[in-house]
Order: sequence, then structure tokens, then C-alpha cells
Amino acid sequence: MRPQPPPSEVTVERGRAVVLRWADGHLTELPLPALRRRCPCVACHDARAGGGVPVAERLDVAGAELVGAYGLALAWTDGHGDGVYSWEVLRSWCVCATCDPAAGGGAEAPAPT
Ligand SMILES: [Zn+2]
Ligand SMILES: [Zn+2]
Repeated sequence: MRPQPPPSEVTVERGRAVVLRWADGHLTELPLPALRRRCPCVACHDARAGGGVPVAERLDVAGAELVGAYGLALAWTDGHGDGVYSWEVLRSWCVCATCDPAAGGGAEAPAPT
């Protein structure tokens, strides 16, 4: 497996989602609660093993920082901020019709243009 090159564009839509434009033109939109729940830090890893990561109702991104070629560090308004999301992982979470036809509407979904 080749390493995932960094996206050409990272947009944090406050209160909503992180949008990644990859070098190959693909677009991945990840809702903030989903990202927070999947935080890759050790504490959240343990929390998931114990039943789940608590996600604040009015969750937002307090800060986002590119970590070189590796990934994206996100700090949250709930005070959490230890997780660095690697580009591979972020891309693998894409649930667009191309990456995950089941989530994109199944066989009825129109072909992506
Ligand atoms: Zn965490
Ligand atoms: Zn996709």
C-alpha cells in the first residue's frame, strides 16, 4: 500500500465538517462528531474499547494544524486535542458514493461525474 499523499486543500467548516481535497481531485467530507468519536489518541482509543467516546453536543474545532506529510492535528472546543489524524486514515473514512457505494445510496446512486 502506497502512503496517502497529503491533500492539496484542507477546509475546516466550523461547527460542521472538515473537507479534504486530495491531490487526485477527490473530495472527502468528514462531519466533526464522526472525527471526534474516532480520535486516534490513546485516551480515546481506551474510551472506545470501554463503550465509546463522549461527544459534546455543540462540538466545534478550536484549532487545526497540518503535521507535515503525516496528517492533521485537531483541537476541539471540549478541550480535547491530542489526536493526530493521518492522511491514510482520513481518506479511508471517506463515505462518498465512489469510496463507499453502500453509504452513498447503493445501486440507485447516479454515477459520479
Ligand atoms: Zn482523543
Ligand atoms: Zn470518497
